[in-house]
Amino acid sequence: MTHATAENPDVNIDDIITALHVAVRGEYATYAPVLKKHERALHRLIKAHPDDVRAVSLLAMVKCELRKNTRTYVRCLEKTFNDCKDTLSDGDYALLATNLSYFYAEECSGKEKRVAELSESAIRRGSPYWETYHALALRYYRAQDFSRALPLFRRTAELSALPRHRYNYAVCLQKCGFAADSIAILRTLSTRFAEHEYDAKAYYALGVFCAQSGDTDTARGIAYDLTRVENAESYVDFDELAELMYAVGEYEQCVKLYDSDRLYETADWMSHYLYSLKSIGNAQRAAQKIADSERDIRLAIDDKTPDDFGGDEKACADYIERESTQLSELRRAYDDVFTRNITPKHEIEIPLLCVCYYIGCPRHSQ
Ligand SMILES: [Zn+2]
Repeated sequence: MTHATAENPDVNIDDIITALHVAVRGEYATYAPVLKKHERALHRLIKAHPDDVRAVSLLAMVKCELRKNTRTYVRCLEKTFNDCKDTLSDGDYALLATNLSYFYAEECSGKEKRVAELSESAIRRGSPYWETYHALALRYYRAQDFSRALPLFRRTAELSALPRHRYNYAVCLQKCGFAADSIAILRTLSTRFAEHEYDAKAYYALGVFCAQSGDTDTARGIAYDLTRVENAESYVDFDELAELMYAVGEYEQCVKLYDSDRLYETADWMSHYLYSLKSIGNAQRAAQKIADSERDIRLAIDDKTPDDFGGDEKACADYIERESTQLSELRRAYDDVFTRNITPKHEIEIPLLCVCYYIGCPRHSQ
């Protein structure tokens, strides 16, 4: 519903969303005046039609984009919800409840219970929006309640054609122990990867889940495919690929990938790196690597004074403590592999693909 009426000839929600969608791609200083212009127009519209939930939702997001205080734009939705919830149609109720739950989940803290209540009430009223089911699925997933998240991710994927929703459903299936179903979905998604059209994340996840299911050959093939594809690193980091190589026992490749990308050296990847060097018979290089890393950290600690932190003694002490912990963790990683003969475990966590689920979001919903 729009209100491009005689007294509001300039206000049409769809037109505003389209205009903002184009504007917000630029610099904030450039698009802020555009946002402010539409903020004024929306205020005028809502004054005449206080129960226009699309206008109220858009106004709240415009205020959010204008970097106003969280309270300001959340209150915008809360007021309309509290004033109108008993008289709204089911669809309008679902839209408002979902968008309010989005702000509670993403911008506020301690509102998890309210997120669930709002989403559940919108679902009871037959919400036609995938965003509602996604909101509740995320709420349960983040609480590690995967079995309750699962049917909601499935419903989201039924209502939206975006491949990422099927990807998220597949990730949740894996969490629930349905590896074969998860792999079957990822296979359908990654057929597009062969045409270089779909991002490599689904293919990577397929490789990891195959490795975790004991299908090492398929996982190995996928890992090598990913090393050959142009721009694959835009979607799958070198260290992620190195972890998959480690998981399938391709230690030489694992070393090569870690060498190609000098990351902050966490104990986790260092233990995989050192074990890989040991496995390919290069213990000498491992000893040199740990010696170099320890020397670098010691030098970094020795050099630091509070002056390097603007005179902040606590910041300096925190830095030194953090680096000292790192030093002892790296040494433990080395001793585990070379003295205690421990094989470091690999636990690759596949994240959900984040997606904005604010209904009518000018930045993401077009
Ligand atoms: Zn958005």
